[in-house]
Amino acid sequence: MTRSAEDLALTQSPSVGSHPSAGSADDVLVVESVRKRYGDVLALDGVSLRVQRGELLSIVGPSGCGKSTLLRAIAGLTTIDAGRITAGGRVVVGPGVWVPPERRAVGVVFQDLALFPHLSVADNVAFGLPRPRRAASGNRQRVAEVLDLVGMTGFAERYPHELSGGEQQRVALARALAPEPDVILLDEPFSHLDRNLRVQVREHTVQVLRAAGATCVFVTHDQEEALAVGDRVAVASAGHFEQVDVPEHVFHNPATRFVATFVGEADFVTGHADGAHAATPLGPVTLASPAQGAVDVMFRPHEVTFEPVDADDRQARRDGANAVVRKVEFRGATVLHELQLDDGETLRASVPHTRSAPVGSRVRVVPDPGHPVAAFRRV
Ligand code: ADP
Repeated sequence: MTRSAEDLALTQSPSVGSHPSAGSADDVLVVESVRKRYGDVLALDGVSLRVQRGELLSIVGPSGCGKSTLLRAIAGLTTIDAGRITAGGRVVVGPGVWVPPERRAVGVVFQDLALFPHLSVADNVAFGLPRPRRAASGNRQRVAEVLDLVGMTGFAERYPHELSGGEQQRVALARALAPEPDVILLDEPFSHLDRNLRVQVREHTVQVLRAAGATCVFVTHDQEEALAVGDRVAVASAGHFEQVDVPEHVFHNPATRFVATFVGEADFVTGHADGAHAATPLGPVTLASPAQGAVDVMFRPHEVTFEPVDADDRQARRDGANAVVRKVEFRGATVLHELQLDDGETLRASVPHTRSAPVGSRVRVVPDPGHPVAAFRRV
């Protein structure tokens, strides 16, 4: 997919972001203009990325956008057609360079965990150690250390089939951490767990990775997970990154419409921008980036609220715009309302059930984003 210039947020540059790690000497992993083609499919279309020491970077994107291919390229499990990857200050793949996977200081936690069923927990973890170290007597000590780090002391002699899903995940993490790699790659590591356990295991995993000071790239297709886990989030689409930035910027100030709609629910209302502000049917708003002319202004459902209006369409508030409730969807903690403004535009508002309004009722819609809003040049 190519990105049209109009689709970019008005001033924010894509794929660079505002994090200071862009180009720092402390970058442990540097991916430069990496391309990878499988037949007709361009899986990686010139991907670049920098990850700082101790940083946890999440990569999120729809299925098939190249996330696993990028991890496999970093780990040395697939070749690349062009570009260069540097891990721990050493070029591991690039023009004329190929370091085999076992000689890259890169640990991987795979989606299916890939534990060896015939090896005990201790032997699975020891398997992650480089050959000379695996044979050395010191390896028992390192195995004990990492099992302690992941809270699995006492499980050393068990076999994978004697462990719960969450415990298996801890062992896979211990195996990846054991050789103290420069970078740890996690490819959808929680997707085999049910939702409740997933949050618990995720929190524990992040805690362990932070305690180990590990530099990590974490791949997920779950937007909420990416925002919760990452110091920065890279949003991928069709073989390239649309935005790499801190979670708050990715969510509140998306660089492209794709990012806007991929990382959360988003609606757009027409606006006319004049510098730092735009006039919209909901009243004036402050923009995250200055703009001029016709724009689409983004609101997420939780940033929109409403109040009832009386039978004569009189409302208490002067700001906002009148609308009719077209659809109501109960979501548990909140109720999502689809609202049609009197000018015909639609947007959604998610409110607690105590403030819900029935289908067909008239309401006064008021934006309440709590921060300057993103706007995109109208196409
Ligand atoms: P993601 O991890 O984001 O779901 P992948 O990196 O697995 O995406 O795949 C990116 C694209 O490359 C997809 O279109 C996929 O079908 C294709 N692809 C991945 N691996 C291979 C392969 N070994 N042979 C052919 N096509 C592949």
